[in-house]
Amino acid sequence: MKLVRFLHRDIPRFGRLANDQIEMISGDPFNSIEPGAVSMNLDKVQLLAPVAPSKIVAVGLNYRDHAKELGMELPEEPIIFLKPPSSVIGSSEPVVYPPESKHVEYEAELAIVIGKTASHITVDAAQKHILGYTCANDITARDLQKRDGQWARAKGFDTFCPLGPHIETDFDPLDVEITLKKNGIVQQKSPTANMVYNVFELVCFISGVMTLFPGDVVLTGTPPGVGSVKIGDLVEVSIDGIGSLTNKII
Ligand code: ZN
Repeated sequence: MKLVRFLHRDIPRFGRLANDQIEMISGDPFNSIEPGAVSMNLDKVQLLAPVAPSKIVAVGLNYRDHAKELGMELPEEPIIFLKPPSSVIGSSEPVVYPPESKHVEYEAELAIVIGKTASHITVDAAQKHILGYTCANDITARDLQKRDGQWARAKGFDTFCPLGPHIETDFDPLDVEITLKKNGIVQQKSPTANMVYNVFELVCFISGVMTLFPGDVVLTGTPPGVGSVKIGDLVEVSIDGIGSLTNKII
């Protein structure tokens, strides 16, 4: 099932997407997915990021070949950091290049959307706590990341967390292809099978540190091929079985 979030009479609502038709859900998909009476055409609504998380937990160095590309050792445990909820934008919304930086990069990532509150759960229980998956771009001001020594500013600017276009609930995350195109040219392409820690191991590990709430998002790390963007570039993250997240740099 494809879940979207959109504005209906100026109020964010969830809907179920099928054949370019959106059936509005009464309530939210974390409790029950009961389609409401209202149905509308996809091209008649303004889509939002598919979720408004209370936090975004991201994982560094989680692809074997990306760690190799950077000449870094594989981490002995997942390396986690936070991006603020205020950094989230949806597909087709612009990423704003901050004047503080001279080197902004894209990072295509598979995003997990949490469905049920998760605290100290096992790897086996992780799947039950996941609502679905979407595409993410972990935009990073690489020069500020190096200069600051910690990552809050470099990864926390407004618009630095594009998510979307929708949440796919029927999805096998363990071996799908993730691709990033810049201005139509492929820059990143890797199977998620190359992750050091898979999605279930990540949710288990993070839930042992901080409680994950419904709607929280986990970014699972980026494959090799990261590179810079400039104003005017169009970046597109595509994941087999989900779709494409497209954002222009302004
Ligand atoms: Zn990342």
